Amino acid sequence: MQTDQTYDFDLFVIGGGSGGVRAARMAAQRGARVALAEAGGVHGSHSDDGGLTGAGLGGTCVNVGCIPKKLYSYAAHFAESFEESHGFGWEGAAPTLNWETLKTNRAKEINRLNGIYSQLLSGAGVTVILQRARIVDAHTVEMTDGTRHTAKSILIATGGRPSVPDIAGRELVVTSNEMFDLPSFPKRLLVVGGGYIACEFASIFNGLGAQVTQLYRGEQILRGFDDEVRHFAAGEMVKAGVDLRLGSDVAAIERVAEGIKVTLQGNPQSKLQENIIVDTILYATGRVPNVSGLGLEALQVKQGKDGAIAVNADYQTSVPSIYALGDVTARVQLTPVALGEAMVLVDHLFGPPAGKAARSMSYQFIPTAVFTHPNIGTVGYSEADARKEFGGITVFKSEFKALKHTLSGSTERTFMKLLVETATDRVVGLHMVGPDAGEIVQGFAVAMKAGATKAMFDSTIGIHPTAAEEFVTMREPVKS
Ligand code: FAD
Ligand code: NDP
Repeated sequence: MQTDQTYDFDLFVIGGGSGGVRAARMAAQRGARVALAEAGGVHGSHSDDGGLTGAGLGGTCVNVGCIPKKLYSYAAHFAESFEESHGFGWEGAAPTLNWETLKTNRAKEINRLNGIYSQLLSGAGVTVILQRARIVDAHTVEMTDGTRHTAKSILIATGGRPSVPDIAGRELVVTSNEMFDLPSFPKRLLVVGGGYIACEFASIFNGLGAQVTQLYRGEQILRGFDDEVRHFAAGEMVKAGVDLRLGSDVAAIERVAEGIKVTLQGNPQSKLQENIIVDTILYATGRVPNVSGLGLEALQVKQGKDGAIAVNADYQTSVPSIYALGDVTARVQLTPVALGEAMVLVDHLFGPPAGKAARSMSYQFIPTAVFTHPNIGTVGYSEADARKEFGGITVFKSEFKALKHTLSGSTERTFMKLLVETATDRVVGLHMVGPDAGEIVQGFAVAMKAGATKAMFDSTIGIHPTAAEEFVTMREPVKS
């Protein structure tokens, strides 16, 4: 490719997370001169400033998101496995959790990943600058130490950080950033929120042995997911031991000798107030884009709610040489989406790899999993949205006890649901609550992207005995 020598770099990436690293690496491999600034250094700051200091190479996902979360989810699943093993003939008391060992091993693995990211970038020829960056003008960025660099294009991939409402006692609560490294294991945990993070952490810490209370202000957790999935998942979480309080919020927080006293309030009509004492309060009440100090206002970069950067279909902001992608644009906040957007942008700026067509990004049929216990896996429309979008919908459902639990003694059940557009027979929604739902749904997402019909599902041979085969053997629609 032709590089423009007017500038120090062809592309300057701000943020070394999922989207930023992928964009920098791919652009450099295409022959572009690329620099990347990461505010958190290689390994992140692990500070308790709500993520303002910077996550470190790999960003939120590697340091305080997907990866440590999934490792802790594996840790939590062992508890139920020990319990369930007795029905299969295993004898003896269940081992106990050593929180320090889990934290140490997690930190070691994350450090290893940070190093790999560092090598990937330098190996591709990216200039890595371990400092916070701000934008001075349409083609200039300034580092914390005052050094300035010019670039033909600037990419903002600064991600997001937890947002905690302005409550009295704010200093006594933590966010997901701090949960992985709590000095001592929280025997009594209060989780506030009903989204991905609240539900995952409630399930994980319940599995690890904490007594977990989860407060959600609305009628049912996981707003936006299929209603039956929400109810079913909530029921399973409660069965597993999470004390889920719906229509409930925090009225007051204060430190007392026995721990942290939280006054709970039910819905305003009931005026019901109750106190609980906990060791830790996790606020998982959403995330906001990392835009403060970037200099966007002076440049008049168009922003939306909470400062989210507005972009067009090519990830270009209102300033033509400045681009943005990933969580800082507050659209679909998932790692694979940030990665996909980065690859599309690189093709747009520097052309596709030789012999290949430029990639495009579709926001339809993005599969997602919530790593509650049991997991939720979903792709496509919820029933309510499908009815709005397509009108005639045929629904197929199945609820059953997994084969494993015929001996394990567990009362956990699995739920699956297919939504079919009646007029075309196309499968437009696929949902599962059950073990390994994320693993199962990933494969079906390919079929759905390819436009698979229910007839194609029906003609697919199942793999027996699995839970997944149920998706290709549901024959009788739900009577409407
Ligand atoms: P980030 O990964 O957040 O990276 C942004 C980087 O920019 C950070 O490293 C930050 O330090 C740096 N930065 C910020 N400002 C500056 C600046 N001015 N100068 C230099 N550097 C700066 N997604 C999934 O798909 N699956 C999951 O299971 C999953 N689990 C999650 C669990 C948790 C607890 C959380 C919080 C998130 C989870 N996510 C998950 C979401 C996922 O982590 C994000 O969608 C993804 O990391 C977004 O990537 P990004 O590149 O936009 O931003
Ligand atoms: P979400 O937006 O998913 O959920 C926020 C929750 O907090 C909602 O239940 C919301 O309620 C509630 N809430 C918001 N404000 C308040 C308040 N002032 N008081 C009480 N409750 C409040 O955000 P998360 O922080 O859970 O996660 C952020 C994003 O990160 C997710 O949307 C997802 O994209 C990504 N993520 C993905 C994961 C995965 O792929 N497995 C795992 C973790 C995160 P209400 O519904 O009423 O608005």
